[in-house]
Amino acid sequence: MKCTQCPSDDVKVIESRDVAEGQAIRRRRMCSRCGHRFTTYERLERPQLIVIKNDGKRELFNRDKLLAGLYRACEKTAVTSLEIEKLVNSIEQELYACGEQEVSSTRVGELVMDQLARINEVAYVRFASVYRRFKDIASFEQEVSLVKQGKHKRLKEAKV
Ligand SMILES: [Zn+2]
Repeated sequence: MKCTQCPSDDVKVIESRDVAEGQAIRRRRMCSRCGHRFTTYERLERPQLIVIKNDGKRELFNRDKLLAGLYRACEKTAVTSLEIEKLVNSIEQELYACGEQEVSSTRVGELVMDQLARINEVAYVRFASVYRRFKDIASFEQEVSLVKQGKHKRLKEAKV
């Protein structure tokens, strides 16, 4: 591997550890020539997953795009980047576990919303409003009240 700061390719691994519940390895690397340190991640290479959008167009499942959408939804909430990373990992695992090569964007969105609703209400509503493109304010309010009911229900269940 080449150094990101100088042309040298004499880069040593100074630390390795498992991250994302063993789904990835994080390595700290150091350039022997200039001493620059940087991090790389090694992930399992998965078969490519095709997402079918509402208009019928197909695109490759893009983990970074999903991450970016979630960061936007979780902005200024208590949701940590670690929680977002975990959420994306579990969505990915669930999608690949289906064993299908193609999945609808609706299915992806529902998986995300299902998990996001358990983590943070504000982030959930933001994500849902982008994802579902609510037609009117009434359907938006209905969604919000459903989340609240669901949350209360879960809280009650947790107390029992
Ligand atoms: Zn260097």
